[in-house]
Amino acid sequence: MDESKVREWIAANEEKLRAAMGLAHWKVTWFFEPLTARTGGPDDACLGRCEILPDYDRAIIRLNFAELEDESHLERIAVHELLHVTLVPMQVYREWASQTIEGGSAADHQEDRLWDYLIEQTLLCLERLWRRRPDWPPRPDAPIPAPEAPVDAAPPADA
Ligand SMILES: [Zn+2]
Repeated sequence: MDESKVREWIAANEEKLRAAMGLAHWKVTWFFEPLTARTGGPDDACLGRCEILPDYDRAIIRLNFAELEDESHLERIAVHELLHVTLVPMQVYREWASQTIEGGSAADHQEDRLWDYLIEQTLLCLERLWRRRPDWPPRPDAPIPAPEAPVDAAPPADA
């Protein structure tokens, strides 16, 4: 996709996405740049990447705009990266649990592999749930939910 189209879509939708995910109090900074997956192969492009700073409720999301096909693809990747933010308690646990693992060791590689698998499988399930939301995408004129909206509000009628 064209970088300006991606920037435009994010500017128009990211606040609504964060609010719908309970992340209204988070500050997310978006970057638009080429990304290479960790395996580093020549065609091994990565579509998005999320870095989370749990202590400050801040995240940085990078989107590989040139690899995104269209708006629906962009939305899927933006939702995926924001869902990473919703799983921040797991990241904090990981940081604590891996303190005694030596960087670059076999145990470090094992932990990395296990983390990637567990987190991405969890996200896959969350993405499927997200796609079943009756109120997404919202009407263009729909108000952005207030951050203080009650978390125990009644579920939608078909839930
Ligand atoms: Zn991911």
